[in-house]
Amino acid sequence: MLVLVINSGSSSIKYQVREVTGAPAGSAADAAAAQVAGVEDAILTKGLIENIGSSGAVADHAEALDLLAARLDEELNGREIDVVGHRVVHGGERFSEPVLIDNEIVRTIERLAPLAPLHNPAAALGIRAIQKKWPHLPQVAVFDTAFHRTLPERAWRYAIPDELYRLRGIRRYGFHGTSHDYVTGRAAEHLGVPREELDGVVAHLGNGASVTAIKGGASVDTSMGYTPLAGLVMGTRSGDVDPSVLTALMTGPDAYDAEQIDRVLNNESGLLAIGGSNDMRELVQRAEGGDEKARLALEMAAYRLVKYIGGYHVAVGGARVLIFTAGIGENSAPFRRLVVEGLGALGVTLDEEANAVRSDEIREISGPDSAITVLVVPTDEERAIAEAAVGLAGDRG
Ligand code: ADP
Repeated sequence: MLVLVINSGSSSIKYQVREVTGAPAGSAADAAAAQVAGVEDAILTKGLIENIGSSGAVADHAEALDLLAARLDEELNGREIDVVGHRVVHGGERFSEPVLIDNEIVRTIERLAPLAPLHNPAAALGIRAIQKKWPHLPQVAVFDTAFHRTLPERAWRYAIPDELYRLRGIRRYGFHGTSHDYVTGRAAEHLGVPREELDGVVAHLGNGASVTAIKGGASVDTSMGYTPLAGLVMGTRSGDVDPSVLTALMTGPDAYDAEQIDRVLNNESGLLAIGGSNDMRELVQRAEGGDEKARLALEMAAYRLVKYIGGYHVAVGGARVLIFTAGIGENSAPFRRLVVEGLGALGVTLDEEANAVRSDEIREISGPDSAITVLVVPTDEERAIAEAAVGLAGDRG
């Protein structure tokens, strides 16, 4: 089957066309199992349509889809799309797995907009534009939050008054779920253990970064919270800060308003604020050349991550595997080394040679005596979305 995987932003649409063969015509859960059973898949084409919106070159999402359709006509040699899979950032408390989209589902995605004001409305626009252009095509939504619906209440609750949760939905949701889920399945397959028996910690380290505690193959805690701002020190995001910092910023003569606070913590903090760059390669290079700011930025990011891993090791009753994934996790051997060095108390050791290898394959980088197996597992959210879409589209008949 040909799957069009769409990631709609407010001013851009990222797309891939994947050919998935061998997935069962069953439930989404079957599709997840198929990941492990080795479904064949290939990327046929991919691209980006930018500058969508009143001030851009492309008027709106409908016009963007006309452009996309023209490109696909050319790039697919007349072959037609069978199903569309959408990455949707927020599924709130409603969605714990991928779903086949109907009008009620789109409305729910829109209703969740207060929880993801930049992302959910854009996803809904993309879905509606496709409904209009290709009304016969089944569409599937895959939610970034869904994998974390297995968190126990003690982990997802904030210790704040109950009505803030009940009336305003303020709780931990967690993000990057598609990636955490996918690499967990790949790791189980690689290790030859049933997924339901996998206890470990996944560190998804890209520009945005989060770490997840995995018990029995399911998410039981995760570092991102109500929004993707919580947790680790990221490229430009602060991660955890004392909430009183916000009230301090909002008072006094030079008070920040909500928008300024949002900008400072989301766009002007993290590695960028401390080290002067959010590019891991540049920071490592500068730190090796003796730059103190870059060194501090790396140390802070690794230290925060190490503390989370230690905590999650306890939360899962003893992690058997630690998984690195995404841009930094897959590519930065020096950053992985910093993290593993910080985990000495857990008996984790590194195979320096294996760590230095550059590869697109899943690989083991822990030393032979390491108490916890350390893996690098390339993530592929589009593949996970494509497989879920095929699994659900097969259900329709
Ligand atoms: P996102 O998808 O969250 O935007 P990515 O997963 O693409 O982010 O990761 C981006 C991060 O990965 C950046 O900090 C970048 O510096 C880092 N990165 C990418 N390639 C390499 C590499 N070869 N070596 C070290 N870091 C890398």
